[in-house]
Amino acid sequence: MIREKNIQVEAIKIGTVIDHIPAHFGFKILSLFCLSNTEKRITIGLNLPSQVLERKDLIKIENFFLTQDQINNLAIYAPYSTINCINDYEVIAKISPLLPEYVNKILICTNSNCISNSELINSCFRIKNYSGEIFLKCRYCENEFPYNILISNQINLFSSL
Ligand SMILES: [Zn+2]
Repeated sequence: MIREKNIQVEAIKIGTVIDHIPAHFGFKILSLFCLSNTEKRITIGLNLPSQVLERKDLIKIENFFLTQDQINNLAIYAPYSTINCINDYEVIAKISPLLPEYVNKILICTNSNCISNSELINSCFRIKNYSGEIFLKCRYCENEFPYNILISNQINLFSSL
């Protein structure tokens, strides 16, 4: 297993390997970073076997490093992911993204009556942690959604586009 991991990481000279993305979220994350329509050389692995998750997605992007905003956004969709920064074929940093306090723009409120769905305003959610249970509170309709439900709904919304 360790050997397999090394091969995955060794494959790029300079850039970023995002590992332990929950299965089915790889494409969502590429579109989130506006990387699905780019000249960058990207390798994506879907439904790979994983010891931590049952199955995982993995993204390798050459000559690219994530900004702090992108790391925060990644944390929303892949809170247990690992970001490997590669230079000269070596992992020079391993980053575990942390959930930010606020999430702007990237999530759609699943309350269909919410003003954020009908007006040209950006969504905004506050992350609330009730003894380990994560909820997202919409700034506009003030509904609180369990993290897992809101995030899985985003994937459904995304795939119906
Ligand atoms: Zn709302």
